[in-house]
Amino acid sequence: MTSEALTSETFLIGAMAGCQGSEPVTAAYVHIPFCRRRCYYCDFAITVLGDRLRGEASGTVRQYLTVLAQEISLTPNRGQALDTVFLGGGTPSLLSVAQVEAILTALDRQFGIAATAEISMEIDPGTFDLAQLRGYRSLGVNRFSLGVQAFQDELLAACGRTHRVVDVRQAIADLERAGIENFSLDLISGLPGQTREHWQASLAQAIACRPAHLSTYDLTLEAGTVFGRRYQPGEAPLPSDTLTADLYRLAQRTLTAAGYEHYEISNYARSGYQCRHNRVYWENRPFYGFGMGAASYLDGDRVTRPRTTTAYYAWVNALTAPPPTSLKASAQPGSTQPGLTWLPDDSRATARLRDRPLAAQPLTDRLLDTLMLGLRLREGLHVETLRQHYGTLAVTKILEGLQAFQARGWVELAPIASEPQTIRLTDPEGFLFSNVILTHLFHQLDTEAA
Ligand code: SF4
Repeated sequence: MTSEALTSETFLIGAMAGCQGSEPVTAAYVHIPFCRRRCYYCDFAITVLGDRLRGEASGTVRQYLTVLAQEISLTPNRGQALDTVFLGGGTPSLLSVAQVEAILTALDRQFGIAATAEISMEIDPGTFDLAQLRGYRSLGVNRFSLGVQAFQDELLAACGRTHRVVDVRQAIADLERAGIENFSLDLISGLPGQTREHWQASLAQAIACRPAHLSTYDLTLEAGTVFGRRYQPGEAPLPSDTLTADLYRLAQRTLTAAGYEHYEISNYARSGYQCRHNRVYWENRPFYGFGMGAASYLDGDRVTRPRTTTAYYAWVNALTAPPPTSLKASAQPGSTQPGLTWLPDDSRATARLRDRPLAAQPLTDRLLDTLMLGLRLREGLHVETLRQHYGTLAVTKILEGLQAFQARGWVELAPIASEPQTIRLTDPEGFLFSNVILTHLFHQLDTEAA
């Protein structure tokens, strides 16, 4: 351990190097907050539509899309066309083809969508048909993510999913008939009553569907959900912690043996099919976010929109309000004059969307984000890049903090000459214990920077 203290000032100099005022923004996330019912584990910002209403038939959906288009058109264009677009939810496949077209048109008009852009869309079994898929595809949607979760009806029922395995089969058949190869399947481990055999069967059946990409998530109990009220982590009927870890290792062995690259803690892909949009998050790059509950990350500032439609509509409405008269004469959008901001109201979030200069992200936040996100990727983080952005002392502290985990075989430092070139978590053990590693690292960096 070096005796040199890691001061706030050291972090500030390093962090500032990593904070560029006008980074290129080429990714957009659009939240479609509608579902037929709420799954028992889900705490996402959604509105439940029931089984009958969707698309143009729902006034709620129509109103939301009007406001969404307004938000997109009010967001400053930063000069770069979009390279990735992700329509997530919720259940975007509850939208008609014309409604998805309207969203893509709004994005294209405001920012431009590059001809080679990856345009992803989440779809749920039982909410679309072949004609819809072909329609989405004709708009340029070129990647689909299907929320399968499990291949056992009893498990799907136990977690409140609206679909059953027969709907998954139909969805896969429709994807094949539409000639869509670039699709991903989502699976969840750790469901109530789920056994090792269930999980093994789900993995095998998922592989048999020949997806280009697979995401495997471990169930998280969220406060305020049915599961959060009903269950305790690690206690029956949820799998024990030992079994949960075993399921993670089983997925890693099974999917890599089937030719999938484990490129991120929860994600596997065939060569050339990693999700470009999600890589933007893991690489801690900026992105637009649109819609209720959606987060954007611009100029080092994460902004989460309100999680109810009423509050979100008011928030977008505030973007259109004129500035107060007292500020009109002296402040303009983008003003750099200290003490003057272009604020239509007191909303901090609204102010951020005005593209005004932003305060630098707190000292260590960006570094901690970079570690938390970057270490999710199998390739890990480049030591030299960390050094350039956050300074030599920060890197020294990180390497010291990781020594114990390296000895346990959870962290690899791939060396170049005498210098470690990359820091990465081992697969599967490092990934499995990433929370332990990051908690230790964060505590050490926070303490040192305080
Ligand atoms: S379909 Fe997805 S977003 Fe909708 S309630 Fe279920 S988990 Fe949540």
